[in-house]
Amino acid sequence: MTSTTRIPVSVEFFPPKTPEGVEKLRSVRQQLYALKPEFCSVTFGAGGSTQEGTFNTVRDILAEGMNAASHFSCVGATKATVREQLATLKTMGVKRLVALRGDLPSGYGAGGEFQYASDLVAFIRAETGDDFYLEVAAYPEVHPQAKSPESDLLAFAAKVKAGANSAITQYFYNSDAYFRFVEDVDALGVQIPVVPGIMPIASSTQLMRFSDACGAEIPRWIRLRLQGFGDDSASIKAFGLDVVTDLCEQLRAGGAPALHFYSMNQSAATLEICSRLGL
Ligand code: FAD
Repeated sequence: MTSTTRIPVSVEFFPPKTPEGVEKLRSVRQQLYALKPEFCSVTFGAGGSTQEGTFNTVRDILAEGMNAASHFSCVGATKATVREQLATLKTMGVKRLVALRGDLPSGYGAGGEFQYASDLVAFIRAETGDDFYLEVAAYPEVHPQAKSPESDLLAFAAKVKAGANSAITQYFYNSDAYFRFVEDVDALGVQIPVVPGIMPIASSTQLMRFSDACGAEIPRWIRLRLQGFGDDSASIKAFGLDVVTDLCEQLRAGGAPALHFYSMNQSAATLEICSRLGL
């Protein structure tokens, strides 16, 4: 049964690396604005590697009259650089951040003055009060470096205690993991919206590569079906749309507060899923 409840959506982009990519993203954004997203967020390469591209994309979104959230990662950063970047974001008119630890590419030394995202959240609150609405990351299937599911949950609670307003999850294809996570968070007395992150399935190899790296599980039946399609990209797309629309239906029916789409700078899959959801 399909539910007709209106549910807010938000959309995530990454900063393009080429002028052609910038132009293409401009047109992708225009198409996705038809969904009236609550906000559009832009990822931030750990170590500040994409800072210019991230901030430029955020500027473009704001100039287009939409709410923009800048992702902001702290691994390898110093308090002085973070302070400077926060001042820039404030001047740009940014009101929402996704505060993260980030992952340094191999080859970078550790260093930096922040160990965990909770340190960043606490620092932003201490420095800028309530100037920013702060999102943090959540992991229904457990962060790959967590010592245990329990310690990961406590790490999540620490980010909320430090001042996070809301959370966006890593993507997943098993709604039970999300609902259990929300229950566990509730049982800890942590009360912030936990918005599921939705990854449309567009390409089988890309999905496998990402998922191995970030610890998201592709259920066996989905993995086998995708493998079975081989290079038949039309079948992969059609199957992916069915699977992800069903997932969104379950999440909406189960009370998810919103849906956050990892657009991968493409519009077709997100638009089709939302159209099937009646959004
Ligand atoms: P944290 O919350 O600090 O957690 C990292 C690990 O440390 C976890 O295993 C946690 O259990 C553990 N931990 C935390 N606190 C403690 C403690 N006090 N004691 C012991 N262990 C602890 N990456 C990017 O580089 N750029 C992006 O733009 C980006 N956007 C993202 C958006 C979303 C919605 C999500 C879900 C992830 C995103 N990531 C991004 C990936 C993210 O940076 C990585 O998953 C990273 O490994 C962890 O970041 P975090 O903020 O969740 O870290």
